[in-house]
Amino acid sequence: MQDNSSRILNFSSGPGVLPQPVLLRARDEMLSIEGSGMSVMEISHRSELFEGILSKAESGIRDLLDLPYNYKVLFLQGGATFQFSMVPLNFLRGSADYVVTGTWGEKAVKEAQRCGDVNVIYDGKASGYGSIPHKGDMRYSDGASYVHYTSNETIDGVEFDYDLNTGSLPVICDASSNILSKPIDTGRYSMIYAGAQKNLGPSGVTIVIINDELLERVPDGQHSLLDYRNIAANNSMANTPNTWGIYLISLVCDWLKGQGGVEAIAGVNEQKAKVLYAAIDNSDGFYRGKADPSARSRMNVTFRLPAAMLDEKFCSEAEQNGMNGLRGHRTVGGVRASIYNAFPAEGVNTLTEFMSDFAARHR
Ligand SMILES: *Cc1c(COP(=O)(O)O)cnc(C)c1O
Repeated sequence: MQDNSSRILNFSSGPGVLPQPVLLRARDEMLSIEGSGMSVMEISHRSELFEGILSKAESGIRDLLDLPYNYKVLFLQGGATFQFSMVPLNFLRGSADYVVTGTWGEKAVKEAQRCGDVNVIYDGKASGYGSIPHKGDMRYSDGASYVHYTSNETIDGVEFDYDLNTGSLPVICDASSNILSKPIDTGRYSMIYAGAQKNLGPSGVTIVIINDELLERVPDGQHSLLDYRNIAANNSMANTPNTWGIYLISLVCDWLKGQGGVEAIAGVNEQKAKVLYAAIDNSDGFYRGKADPSARSRMNVTFRLPAAMLDEKFCSEAEQNGMNGLRGHRTVGGVRASIYNAFPAEGVNTLTEFMSDFAARHR
């Protein structure tokens, strides 16, 4: 049964919308997965059945990102936020460089500072987190252990449109809100991590893509669940993993392959963002984009109306019209439309029609 009648347009920033075919398949397999008579949540993580699911999730990510053989894909818990601590606990020796283009990068710095010196080599705070450093503008510090950055700042709506080029300095990237949304040059990264609940699956599982060279830098004597090398050696099963989350990631990867993969979805994403930004830019100043045009995110489109009261009215009227999750983050206000991979292009058209109607009534 394909039942759309109860579904709304979900612009939530995270947990975000999942592809409907994935939800339907999970529903169909809920009581008995692969004829086992059990749900995926009820089978042993050591069973052959689950090992198959785990390896499908892993190969899904590997294939979609075209990962070189010398990278591991790990499934962890604790969210992307836990990586803010786990990264410096393992890799910060002396000092590390952090590129701060938004709220999440700022949080990552706070955790890293507990482990050593942090050089904030770019700070977008002065621009209200509306900017991204120009390609080639960054100066990396001598002796830094790594450089950390956030490829898409979910709250502020700014996104890098290039991969950092650092020479030999390892790049560690929080890609929680744009992973698998466009092709990236994975070979430039030593580690990429992402909480699943934006573009990959449900909350509660975090993927870590890490190259073998960085893995070798994990200090001896590390606590076992903080030890990427130990987790890799145990195939993400150093303890019970989030079996449900990994299963859903495997289904999302299947779905994305069916859409033509990362390259194809990137084209769709670009088009969705273009339509929405055009609605902002062509509103005679009624809607104002929050980010510099050159830094605009294709995943989280942030904008404001002429008054905070109108932001609120806009979001609540949108809700009455079946569009949910448009309120900006509680710390920044405004409006934010998150249009992840699974968000349908028609939904963006519905929003832009509503925007022009709302502007006409409130100018
Ligand atoms: C959502 C988000 C986080 C936090 O993720 P949790 O899984 O809640 O810890 C961190 N970084 C970015 C870029 C995010 O979008």
